[in-house]
Amino acid sequence: MTELESRNLRRLPSVTTILDHVPPAILLRFGHPAVTTAIRTRIDCAREAIKAGAAPATIEDLVLRALLQLEQEAGSSLRPLFNLTGTVLHTNLGRAVLAEPAIDAAIVAMREVVALEFDLETGQRGDRDNHLRDLLCKLTGAEDGTIVNNNAAAVLLALNTLAQQREAIVSRGELIEIGGAFRMPDIMTRAGAIMVEVGTTNRTHAKDYRAALSPQTGAILKVHTSNYRIQGFTAEVGAAELAAIGATASVPLLYDLGSGSLIDLSHYGLGRESTVREAVRQGAALVTFSGDKLLGGPQAGFIVGRADLIAAVNSNPLKRALRVDKIRLAAIEATLKLYHDPERLAERLPTLRLLARPKHEIEALARRLLPIVTQTLGDGFTVALCECDSQIGSGALPLEAIASAGLAIRSRSSSGALNQLTTALRRLTRPIIGRTADGGLILDLRCLTDEDQFVSTLSELGDQALI
Ligand SMILES: *Cc1c(COP(=O)(O)O)cnc(C)c1O
Repeated sequence: MTELESRNLRRLPSVTTILDHVPPAILLRFGHPAVTTAIRTRIDCAREAIKAGAAPATIEDLVLRALLQLEQEAGSSLRPLFNLTGTVLHTNLGRAVLAEPAIDAAIVAMREVVALEFDLETGQRGDRDNHLRDLLCKLTGAEDGTIVNNNAAAVLLALNTLAQQREAIVSRGELIEIGGAFRMPDIMTRAGAIMVEVGTTNRTHAKDYRAALSPQTGAILKVHTSNYRIQGFTAEVGAAELAAIGATASVPLLYDLGSGSLIDLSHYGLGRESTVREAVRQGAALVTFSGDKLLGGPQAGFIVGRADLIAAVNSNPLKRALRVDKIRLAAIEATLKLYHDPERLAERLPTLRLLARPKHEIEALARRLLPIVTQTLGDGFTVALCECDSQIGSGALPLEAIASAGLAIRSRSSSGALNQLTTALRRLTRPIIGRTADGGLILDLRCLTDEDQFVSTLSELGDQALI
């Protein structure tokens, strides 16, 4: 260590000295222990910086840095951010953003005591599914329905109910893995079902299912291959035919729809996915689908279908372990009610609004932001308008590219500079998350709804050196 460095180290103020400079309001807000810890951390950092050749930080600097740290720590670690990845339902970013009526309903349920399992007519114990039963039946055409933690739970519970220690027949082309360790064969095993694979990866025929039926069969399972497509020389058996095959042996068809839309998305310029209503009409005895994918609600899993089978699902002890709480129940009820008014659905349901957002609107936004972003990033980068493709995400319509627009940022010098920028954008008070492609950073603006907030957040980029 040089003489200068050791002198600078000695000049660093002590914790007590810095504490004397902290305004009392700050101490009151964060508490003495937290403030002391933050100051210690900042002194440690300043010490490292001196060893790396920096000048010693002043007391004011250290107080300010400690305050910034405290502010950051006080905020939720579930940080709100700008999702400019182009993936609208991004599993890692929390999937669907809820509609305002759903948020309001969830807040009431959090704040108040509510009639969750209490029948206000009779004064008797009620059932938490009663809040959704009629809505689900009306929206899907099913006889009955229930709700659990997520669709993985719905599949597990439905399979366990229908096929524990019995056989479940499934096509080899539908043994999917979706992210986060959900693999259909593993779920089937955990559900206690004996998996009977039929067909091949690319082709499975009705006769394959027929030949696999046995007195041990508990269910035929059909899985929507959400996140990939088998193309070319392929054959699969549709739900209606599978239901009919099952019916010859009184075996129910369980259909995991995955995303499961309640409406025909082609009205909004998107590709056609079969709806839950269609799956029910085709004869699936139970249909499972997610709450936070295309449906646009909170995380949840739905099981709808035949009344006797839903009753069996409800009396399965696993149901209790997988049930949802009052907060989500309230949000789901409010979300489902929006579907009563299809005309206004795209206006009120953020997921649909974003998916259906017209490209010209996004392009106009990109044009407005171009000069601002260009100026903020300075000479080291080029920023250009670009056409890009958004995706629905979460495995819904995986091949569907939705034409979108955004900004393409490239470094004039090195990819290192671009990485630094990506990191800096992630460190903003409201992080900006884009997508790297072709050596550039793409900001797909489809999901940018608060332009002013974006601009003011971006302006923090200049202050970053402080931290
Ligand atoms: C997404 C998906 C699941 C899991 O749903 P979660 O709600 O994420 O638990 C199961 N099956 C299919 C086909 C899916 O697409």
